[in-house]
Amino acid sequence: MKRFVIISELRHYLNQEKIKGRTVAFVPTMGALHAGHKSCIDIAGEKGALLVVSVFINPTQFDPGEDYAKYPRRFENDFGLLNQWGCDAVFTPSADEMYAGGENVWVDVEGITEDLCGRTRQRHFRGVATVVAKLFNIVEPDVAVFGQKDAQQAVVIRNMVEQLKFPIKMELSPIVRENGGLAVSSRNEYLSDADRHRAQAVYAGLRHGYELIRDGLRDPAGAVQAARKVMEEASITHIEYIELVRASDLKPADTIAGVVMLAAAVRIRGTRLIDNIVMLVDDEVRETLLF
Ligand code: AMP
Repeated sequence: MKRFVIISELRHYLNQEKIKGRTVAFVPTMGALHAGHKSCIDIAGEKGALLVVSVFINPTQFDPGEDYAKYPRRFENDFGLLNQWGCDAVFTPSADEMYAGGENVWVDVEGITEDLCGRTRQRHFRGVATVVAKLFNIVEPDVAVFGQKDAQQAVVIRNMVEQLKFPIKMELSPIVRENGGLAVSSRNEYLSDADRHRAQAVYAGLRHGYELIRDGLRDPAGAVQAARKVMEEASITHIEYIELVRASDLKPADTIAGVVMLAAAVRIRGTRLIDNIVMLVDDEVRETLLF
């Protein structure tokens, strides 16, 4: 596995590989790699393309007061895992390599960034869209894989890809969960054992809402209320949101039909956790991917 920290050196390497006819599959990450990342990387690996992974803790996607300084940094361990997982090249730029300072160009995706996580993380999606645009311009992949766990992020990037005409096919990985249902996340390591156990109620709540819909419930408020009750009964007191939205534009679903997402964000002793279930509601109801 090759490791690059300088943009021009990565570009040179990729150009040489592309001349040989290789296509490129890309997975952007912030490191502290886990089974959720592996799932994205496995999907990218299935393409038979050159497999490129970035590990970059992007400062601009953390709002003031968020966990940028304490975000887990385990680069050496990550390289070992990426090597095992069959990655061809890893890109780990410094913040200075990605941001010269005094930036006045940002990618701002409007509308869909204002609700759900955007309500409490006001600069987050601008930082995400900007860094992913930079990474896409550097790597110029044919395929890029993202996780459905960060569903709003996936929709933001999909809008950016479509409207800025990036010639990139986006794919999604289903959410990888721990035993007990908690969505795997680099932030789970902030939780004590007891809080990690309590956090299982986030998925349990969403799952309960999903099961009621599967059994015929068609009232969005009822599904949200049922999910909330499960979380509150597990003493999850700080619920940022639980919402049922249309998968297409993340706006509140007035009816439960088509592809809808039941999504939640909570805080457990300061640690922010998100999760969702996306479902296709037709004659039958089944779990699906956002796109
Ligand atoms: P991050 O390092 O947290 O920025 O995540 C990098 C990529 O991995 C993003 O596309 C995430 O959505 C994806 N990812 C993170 N956790 C999971 C998970 N539990 N299941 C599937 N994908 C995930």
